[in-house]
Amino acid sequence: MITEETQALVNSGLMLPMMEEFYTIQGEGFHKGTAAYFIRVGGCDVGCHWCDVKESWDASIHPPTPIGHIVEKAIKQSKTIVITGGEPLTWDMGPLTAELKKHGCQIHIETSGAYKLSGEWDWICLSPKKIKLPTEEVYTKANELKVIVFNKHDFKFAEEQAEKVNKDCILYLQPEWSNRDKMMPEIVDYVMKNPKWKVSLQTHKYLNIP
Ligand code: SF4
Repeated sequence: MITEETQALVNSGLMLPMMEEFYTIQGEGFHKGTAAYFIRVGGCDVGCHWCDVKESWDASIHPPTPIGHIVEKAIKQSKTIVITGGEPLTWDMGPLTAELKKHGCQIHIETSGAYKLSGEWDWICLSPKKIKLPTEEVYTKANELKVIVFNKHDFKFAEEQAEKVNKDCILYLQPEWSNRDKMMPEIVDYVMKNPKWKVSLQTHKYLNIP
């Protein structure tokens, strides 16, 4: 049972519902192959049917944790930090990123962009979801657009999203993991015909690391 006082600290971003933290290799997108410390924050109500971290959705089952504790553990492992979820922008990311910045960290976020952009970021990976579209602000600030391809309709969605991001944003198509054998040939074909896109793979899953 979370007290009102704790809930107020979570609501202000001074505590966050922590699901897991781990040091690994970033498997996807522009920074694939880079060692990074992942902070997975609980809470997401976007509701993607193919979500592979559904256990993150319910924030109340993840312990509210002071950001000081989160930062202390993180900086022992790495100065490259990836904040993921769940949907991290469910919460105010300002206090956590400010604290990490004090320690000279490079901070990346993986977000659907569905909620107000908060926090200070060195890299924004925007992975938009059809059922809850990104805010206008995040399109202007995204460094990479990563569209998950579950079926052929997602190519059309990808193009619509590419129209909205800033001109420097790097464009990735990534097969949804459970459907990868079916969609990978389609993605390869699409990227060869439309070379503004690049292929992103979940290489950490092939490497069998978190
Ligand atoms: Fe899962 Fe991410 Fe979709 Fe939320 S936005 S349901 S965490 S894939």
